[in-house]
Amino acid sequence: MAVETPYVLEQGLRPSATRCFLCGDDIDDTTGSKEHVFPKWLLNRFDLWNEPLTLLNGTVIKYRQLVIPCCQRCNNEHLAGVENRVQAAFAIGPSALVELPSAELYLWMVKIYYGLLFRNLTLPVDQRDPAAGPIVTPEDLSRFRFLHLMLQGLRGIDVSMLHAGTPGSCVIMPAQTSTASHASLNWDYLDIPHVPFLALRIGGVALFTGLEDFGALRPLRSRDEASGRRAAPPAPSGSVSGTGCTVRGDRHVGDPRTGLRRPTGWIQAAHHV
Ligand SMILES: [Zn+2]
Repeated sequence: MAVETPYVLEQGLRPSATRCFLCGDDIDDTTGSKEHVFPKWLLNRFDLWNEPLTLLNGTVIKYRQLVIPCCQRCNNEHLAGVENRVQAAFAIGPSALVELPSAELYLWMVKIYYGLLFRNLTLPVDQRDPAAGPIVTPEDLSRFRFLHLMLQGLRGIDVSMLHAGTPGSCVIMPAQTSTASHASLNWDYLDIPHVPFLALRIGGVALFTGLEDFGALRPLRSRDEASGRRAAPPAPSGSVSGTGCTVRGDRHVGDPRTGLRRPTGWIQAAHHV
């Protein structure tokens, strides 16, 4: 395998709809492929393909439309293996997720967060005024260049920082699940655009990740371990605005319409990278 070199945004390789989001290579019909921001296995599991997601400017987009340019090499060689391992861990639950190599889960989360921002590059902020530009400009995206640098780790490039600690932290815990009919009731998504943070509920697993917090969430683990206290699961509820968000504000524990139930055998699990 050829040695990879980082794709660094500051080097004039501006993000573009015709360049691989990960390595920056030009893409054409023969070399390009599409990367789903939310992986296909997740869209299948929760039947999200035609479900709506509301973007920063209020634009509603369907999950199936959330694709970003990605070269075949990055897609097949760099992303597929991580995706398969993360998918398998989610199928088992929190115990398997904490056993993943820490960087893999972190990078998987960063890809979703950054990927949504990248998708906004090609969506107009005002559909009635094309001259107003996209929802997210290349300049906006460049503010997230630290996350983009971290993503170079997916290409096998060592981007660790000597003596700088770890870039993010993630808390993993069991989540409430629903017995109601639609699979999407067991899915939640929340992000915060200006303080990189991402929370997901994937079936019976919830993840809360500070993508650039250098371990700020880690004390949650040590505190709970010290006290022996069990961590409460998150209450599924409507998500709020962000880079993209699900819009469901009508879910409440105990509501027979949703069939939400608390998990049995609560455990606590925390994970940091
Ligand atoms: Zn690439």
